[in-house]
Amino acid sequence: MAVTYKQKCGRCKKNYVLITWRTNFPLCYDCQKKEMVGEIKDAAMKKLLNIPEEFYKENSFLRSIKINCLRFGKLSEKQVEAFKKTVKKMKESNKGNDETPVKD
Ligand SMILES: [Zn+2]
Repeated sequence: MAVTYKQKCGRCKKNYVLITWRTNFPLCYDCQKKEMVGEIKDAAMKKLLNIPEEFYKENSFLRSIKINCLRFGKLSEKQVEAFKKTVKKMKESNKGNDETPVKD
């Protein structure tokens, strides 16, 4: 399990960012927002990155993936997997226990 902790944004030094030991330069949502705009041409990537904005606000890893995708036009399989896993985890923790998983 990755341990997360809070550190001040490396750019504005104002907002706190949730980071892991792997983050070498923490950037907050406000600072990265400008880099996150743009058009993703790949339909699969577009679908993948179409998650609630709240998730991007909360998670710097998801932000970096989106920025990477905008910059390079695609993502590696590993990045896609990690992105999906993170989104799934966030959805589960946001949902609470009032929903019974559907089994078939
Ligand atoms: Zn900042």
